[in-house]
Amino acid sequence: MGILPCDPMEFTQLFCSACIKTYSFRDVQSKLVDVIGQSNKTVQQEIYSCPDCMKPARPIYRIIFLVKDESTMGMDKIYKLHFYTYSGQCEDFFGGIKPTNLYKDSVALKQIKDYVSLLSRFNIYMDMIIRRKYSQKQNEDLFEIYDCKLIELPSVAK
Ligand SMILES: [Zn+2]
Repeated sequence: MGILPCDPMEFTQLFCSACIKTYSFRDVQSKLVDVIGQSNKTVQQEIYSCPDCMKPARPIYRIIFLVKDESTMGMDKIYKLHFYTYSGQCEDFFGGIKPTNLYKDSVALKQIKDYVSLLSRFNIYMDMIIRRKYSQKQNEDLFEIYDCKLIELPSVAK
């Protein structure tokens, strides 16, 4: 199994629902604002806004899994399984880690890398619902992760 993008820090992107565009966290600035958190304490929260329209934007996962299965064994064919969380579905895919700015969140980055290396092992089964989409632009079938259960790292790992 392969995975795109190659750079894990680009697994998440900033998504603007007004422009319907994604941006690399490398290129966006955040603002720190005070919000009232639990037990009425003021906490600082990082807020991202769209570089184009300045409206609030949020992090999403944007990953393509390149998978082969038995039906394509020995063929030059590979399935592209899209994992885009525009509408918030499947955000818990990586053990509940919410999409964040991975250029800054080294803890989440490390955990996500662990999940990806787990997934890349041979004979890993995933339980998920995918749907097929035909892309006219690329003239091929695309698959999209539509719903899934959490995957959990075996506690014996490491
Ligand atoms: Zn925008």
